[in-house]
Amino acid sequence: MTFHIPENIEEEILRLKEQKNAIILSHFYQDSEIQDIADFVGDSLDLSRKAADNEADEIYFCGVKFMAEVAKILSPSKKVYIPDANAGCSLETSCPPAEFAEFKLKFPNALTVTYINCSAEIKALSDIIVTSSNAKKIISQIPNDKEIIFAPDQHLGRYIEKETGRKMILWHGSCIVHEQYSEKELIKLKVNHPQAKIIAHPECPETLLNYADHIGSTSSILNYVKESQVDEFIVLTEHHIIHQMKRLRPNAKFYDCPFTNSAGCALCNSCPYMALNDLEKLYLVMKYGSKSEFGQEINLEENLRLQAKRPLQKMLELS
Ligand code: SF4
Repeated sequence: MTFHIPENIEEEILRLKEQKNAIILSHFYQDSEIQDIADFVGDSLDLSRKAADNEADEIYFCGVKFMAEVAKILSPSKKVYIPDANAGCSLETSCPPAEFAEFKLKFPNALTVTYINCSAEIKALSDIIVTSSNAKKIISQIPNDKEIIFAPDQHLGRYIEKETGRKMILWHGSCIVHEQYSEKELIKLKVNHPQAKIIAHPECPETLLNYADHIGSTSSILNYVKESQVDEFIVLTEHHIIHQMKRLRPNAKFYDCPFTNSAGCALCNSCPYMALNDLEKLYLVMKYGSKSEFGQEINLEENLRLQAKRPLQKMLELS
């Protein structure tokens, strides 16, 4: 099959969207071109709500696969597509379902609270899903005498432990992006820009979070930038969020903290999975569906979907 990419690709995407009664959802970590064409740009919690509550027949999800799965779990009657089927997530792969099921057996009385960055299979093994926006609020509502398993992100888990005072049994997963910022480079940036506020996502290790002026989900970080009186920020989360920050504060300065293994290259701070999606692949999946070279329709076996929906609904109720 030969795939043709039109020159007026944005216009064609908008035409196909209209024709299919579709909605385009984008995560803050997507390329700015995708963010600009999307109907809605948000963090995992906002996107889950949007996926559950919209009038479209089809959802084109520009994010990683577990996010598109959440859309399908919450909106089973809609067709859900992702531009590149290989857009995974290191947190998802760091928690294989068979190993996790075995791990859970060691703590039969524990409640399993799982970060949304995991597969549908892990969600099905969980009692409550959380995002970085609502994790503290939800965990604070769990009775103090209840043991909690928290998976898959050990860094987010440790941050919540510190914030809530609740000790949890942590799975050992991590995000390859947030784990790689260089403490040495962060200190250098702060010395060179002493007025700058350090803003960080809680997927970063504690050694980095200790320097932060504000720690929060992508939405919370954006809100902090919007409300802040200062004009300089050192950013410890995925590079593409700066697109939204610049929209909120066009005259402010934003500095990407380099990775340990990068020489200050801004794009080195990008999520390699999110980067697989681009405007061309979005067009191709809208035009050719699962027959397109990279895109895929998300389908889940009904029993799995129902089991994964239960802890997600619990999250939506509690947050
Ligand atoms: S930034 Fe990290 S947690 Fe987010 S999708 Fe990429 S690998 Fe997963």
